[in-house]
Amino acid sequence: MNLSKAELGDQFRIFIDAGGNISSYPSMNTMMATVIATKKAPYGTGIMLGWKANEPHPPEATARTQTSSENNYVANQSEYKFGKTVKRDLPVAVQIFNGLDGFPCKKCTNFFPLSAPNQKDGTLICWSCRNGK
Ligand SMILES: [Zn+2]
Repeated sequence: MNLSKAELGDQFRIFIDAGGNISSYPSMNTMMATVIATKKAPYGTGIMLGWKANEPHPPEATARTQTSSENNYVANQSEYKFGKTVKRDLPVAVQIFNGLDGFPCKKCTNFFPLSAPNQKDGTLICWSCRNGK
């Protein structure tokens, strides 16, 4: 999946590289990110991911000091101290619904809270499916 349908306030687990920065390639390393801004129609389709001060954030994310009139923002945007603009075709691991962090099994689609990818393509296959149960 990617961020093509991402809306303000949506939360995703994005892929990160060995240095902790945003990766365009699926991996087993992920990080939570929140969509805090979207470009207004005349200005393009980009979106900004944001992190609060107490959340792990990529080193490449910049400290936010101001807003742009070209963007729509989440109401609590000032809580997000770090931001990084990305394209909507950025591959992401999973969308977090209702704050429930985890991954669905790629095969049986059961959801596993607090799980992490265990496949090189950034997906999870659960114990039962891996063992043919
Ligand atoms: Zn499964």
